[in-house]
Amino acid sequence: MRDMLLAQVARWARELPKEPAYTFVDHLGGGARHTVTWGRADLKARALAVRLRELAGPGDRVALLVPQGLDYVVAMLGTLYARLVAVPLFAPGLPGHGERLAGAYADADPVIVLTTTAALPGVTDFLATAQAPKHVLAVDTVSDLLADEWEPAPFHPGDLAYLQYTSGSTRTPAGVEITHGNLTANATQLWELFRATPRTSVAALWLPLFHDMGLVATVAMPMMGGNQAAFMDPVAFVMRPVRWLRLLSEFGDVFTAGPNFAYEYTAARVTPEEKAGLDLSGVRVMLNGAEPVRPGAIEAFDAAFAGCGLRPEAHTPAYGLAEATVFVTATGRDERPVVTTFDRDALRDGRAVPAATGTRLVSCGQPYGQRVRVVGPSSRARPDGEVGEIWVQGPNVARAYWRDPARSAEVFGAVLEEAGGTWLRTGDLGVLHDGRLYVTGRIKDLIIVDGRNHYPQDIEATAQEAHPAIRRDRVAAFAVPGDAVTPGPGEVVGPVPGEAGERVVVVAERSRGGEGADAGEVARSVRAAVRKYHDLSVHDFVLTTAGTLPRTSSGKIARQACLRAYLEGLFV
Ligand code: ATP
Ligand code: MG
Repeated sequence: MRDMLLAQVARWARELPKEPAYTFVDHLGGGARHTVTWGRADLKARALAVRLRELAGPGDRVALLVPQGLDYVVAMLGTLYARLVAVPLFAPGLPGHGERLAGAYADADPVIVLTTTAALPGVTDFLATAQAPKHVLAVDTVSDLLADEWEPAPFHPGDLAYLQYTSGSTRTPAGVEITHGNLTANATQLWELFRATPRTSVAALWLPLFHDMGLVATVAMPMMGGNQAAFMDPVAFVMRPVRWLRLLSEFGDVFTAGPNFAYEYTAARVTPEEKAGLDLSGVRVMLNGAEPVRPGAIEAFDAAFAGCGLRPEAHTPAYGLAEATVFVTATGRDERPVVTTFDRDALRDGRAVPAATGTRLVSCGQPYGQRVRVVGPSSRARPDGEVGEIWVQGPNVARAYWRDPARSAEVFGAVLEEAGGTWLRTGDLGVLHDGRLYVTGRIKDLIIVDGRNHYPQDIEATAQEAHPAIRRDRVAAFAVPGDAVTPGPGEVVGPVPGEAGERVVVVAERSRGGEGADAGEVARSVRAAVRKYHDLSVHDFVLTTAGTLPRTSSGKIARQACLRAYLEGLFV
């Protein structure tokens, strides 16, 4: 049996005790840099583990209500050292995240809450509204002297390491049980993609550590080779995206990751003066995943930063999900993104046919250390070129959702006619073309009108281009049952007898420049464009106030939540 990833921390503490392991750039606290070496990371983890084992036993959950920073890393390592089940959450107070925190916290049912002295008041307020844990502990108050009492024991691949909550795009976030074996496998797979050099390659990110990619790329991957991770707060990135690129400029062989919007946002926000000091030639892998990868984002980013030494092959479109720890497929490290134009009508009928005009899709590449199939309704793998559900099998695929055996069996226990073992049903649609995976959308979000499939993101893209009064990326297209009537404010929708099938509704936020625009005129433009490009009539169009469309903590449009809000008449 190969060693579990976590055992590597102690190894680097022995072999590279003074080398930097994790560096937090504290922009919100004045820009100071805080580093723990491998020696200190191991020491702090041991000390915390000793304290945690005084308070809890195997199988107990430890919720991390810790702000982004080194304490978060220590909290994670200490909990895993202690063989307790970590629940990576976040300190209360992140705007728009309250419900997510309360939901995941209650679901995980933790015995201990970890936080920091600074975040304790907020955590105390939060806990007053929730089921109180047995213990609340500020990680920065644990004495290093406890570390000597730690007695190491091996990690086993089947042991539960942590619960990763999903983003909640289509439902209440679900806790995925990630084992030490899963984490080890996925860090290895990411490392293979990066083809990192032990000790020299660096991971530099701003992704929140409670997100799957933030956690695996920042905390876990550097354990592979005694590498360094440098990271910052996502808020610091959003305030000034050039900070991300400055961090990347410091290193000669660096890995980073972000969702598609981050690339568009950064390209639009960084000024010519800011660009002058950047050197992006050391960026090997710039993962783009978590949401559909748009060709325009890659093009805009390249256009903006080509003068900063950025290699076009650094762009690495990727696909993954929490149920597979995080990472599933990507284009190769030294390969440029592959963009293919597919015939739009054929794609709607489930076939990927390259064409001169149509839908441009960015390939998410190939699986690393796992198997991917595109599967049809009868649980048979589909041939290349046919759209179906993406299924995944590999050592990184989790075994279950936390405390939900029925849903676990359905999602993790799928059986493929021609291949053994169980498979993960991702709920995503995709197609293999020339051996590469293209993700076409989510099954749950597919809009079916008169027997024809429509991908919501296509309709949203058309709507967004139809009128400048529509705010970019703040559009949701979804289907309502044909028997639903259009709700007035505060009115709940009831059925209209005699009508059936689905009808498409588009809700868009008003852009800043579009405050004076006439809603009727915007609606006419959207209807005309959707009819022209999709041969589809929009049943209802709503132009709503900025900030009202439900989104996940990672900024994804939550279309099912939009549908519910629409049916309750909440968009006005
Ligand atoms: P929930 O499962 O709670 O509804 P979620 O699926 O958004 O939320 P995550 O596991 O964080 O939660 O995200 C994984 C999902 O993100 C994938 O299943 C897929 O739908 C989408 N996704 C990830 N990468 C890509 C990509 N490259 N292109 C398109 N979609 C992607
Ligand atoms: Mg999901």
